[in-house]
Amino acid sequence: MKYHIWTVGCQMNVADTRKLAAGLDRAGCIATDAPEDADLVVLNTCSVREHAEDRAIGQLGRLKKLRGRGREFRIAVMGCMVGPRDEDLRRRFPYVDVFARPQDFAPVMELAGIDDSGGEFWPTTFGEPNAPTAYVPVIHGCDKFCTYCIVPYRRGREKSRTIDEISREVEHYCARGVREVTLLGQTVEAYGRGLEPGGLEAGRWRADDRGRPPDLADLMRAIHDVPGLERIRFLTSYPKDMTARIVDTVAELPKVCDSFNIPVQAGDDAVLTRMRRGYTLAEYLEKFEMVKARIADAAMVTDIIVGFCGETDAEFRHTYELLERLRFDKVHVAAYSPRPGTIAHRTLADDVPPEVKQERLQAIEQLEARISFEINQRLLDSEQDVLVEHRREGRWSGRNRAGKLVHFEGDAETGAMVRVRIGRATAWSLQGTALPAPVPA
Ligand code: SAM
Ligand code: SF4
Repeated sequence: MKYHIWTVGCQMNVADTRKLAAGLDRAGCIATDAPEDADLVVLNTCSVREHAEDRAIGQLGRLKKLRGRGREFRIAVMGCMVGPRDEDLRRRFPYVDVFARPQDFAPVMELAGIDDSGGEFWPTTFGEPNAPTAYVPVIHGCDKFCTYCIVPYRRGREKSRTIDEISREVEHYCARGVREVTLLGQTVEAYGRGLEPGGLEAGRWRADDRGRPPDLADLMRAIHDVPGLERIRFLTSYPKDMTARIVDTVAELPKVCDSFNIPVQAGDDAVLTRMRRGYTLAEYLEKFEMVKARIADAAMVTDIIVGFCGETDAEFRHTYELLERLRFDKVHVAAYSPRPGTIAHRTLADDVPPEVKQERLQAIEQLEARISFEINQRLLDSEQDVLVEHRREGRWSGRNRAGKLVHFEGDAETGAMVRVRIGRATAWSLQGTALPAPVPA
């Protein structure tokens, strides 16, 4: 059986796709890049914003046409578009064979004619890496219920994987050429929650090791010395869950990159309250300062939503001023997109006109382009260690420790760590030339 998986959305979805592909491969199926050649097409969907859903719906339209032309194949829709109740989806897309919630691979496997009910299949199924970097989910779901966000309804409650299972996965990847892993969680510092004391079975931590559940710092230490591993990243930080212990561990462990993605979402307390983010601006700033006090040159990234329900000009200005003040290395900005089923959709009016949302989005993008440009100019003539990810259009590309994209010329190979002298810097990337590798003593 040939299968094709189409993926949109966050790194968690990319990781879910890889896991499903690994399961299908293990059962003897063969991947194909072309949906028209496949016997099974899986759409791994996102519903964080309406636009992402629209893309999946467009894709479904194309598959329906393909079926209309006589091609016979099965269709599975997986991921965040699928909630606990799928009657509505079944009605809208009657030609879809199966709807599967995020991480619920069983219905897709069944559709492919594979029995994975034994329980042993998934914990020992890891993907074949096709790059020197890999995403490793460490905690699934989210308990925070920010009012705008669909994730807790679709990905369920926080549930951590055991350190043993994660370590096995990291060892598996590194034995196959991976040099960098990114530990993933919607709120990655919540790692450890949802584990129970006990033996070694799935979902349990070992009571004989520590008198408390493990946290992200324990996890980083546990995988730090895996042979071949050179860098550890982690995403996404939830300001309230961040502890001094975790930041100290990042500072101490040489392989953990000093790069923090801490979404603030808004720079105004009234907006943060309406979003039910669970912190005030002052509390956010405390966490930001805690990181900077321990790791002065940490790269800082944040997420912003503009045009959230009731956002006034003054409230938006506070967000803008915050970004001017904190000077993040990178800002992910999105216009608020109401999601049916969320608290905001039920209780707050989406009253910022689309053109105002667009203006605010552009204002943040322009500010961010200026700040990133200024920050990157300071890296001119510096030397950066770049983990090489690929070669395209005659140049190599990879990322430095801070996570910045670097394009360069010279001698390299995929998976190598190359020292690059930076000759040019824009808001979005650095460009330079590889320095000769040091001769071993
Ligand atoms: N857990 C992380 C956090 O606490 O922010 C991020 C996960 S969320 C799935 C990724 C980003 O999508 C958020 O940071 C937010 O900026 C954006 N997002 C979530 N819901 C949104 C919505 N309804 N409209 C626009 N952007 C949204
Ligand atoms: Fe969504 Fe908030 Fe959870 Fe992030 S913390 S996934 S924004 S509910």
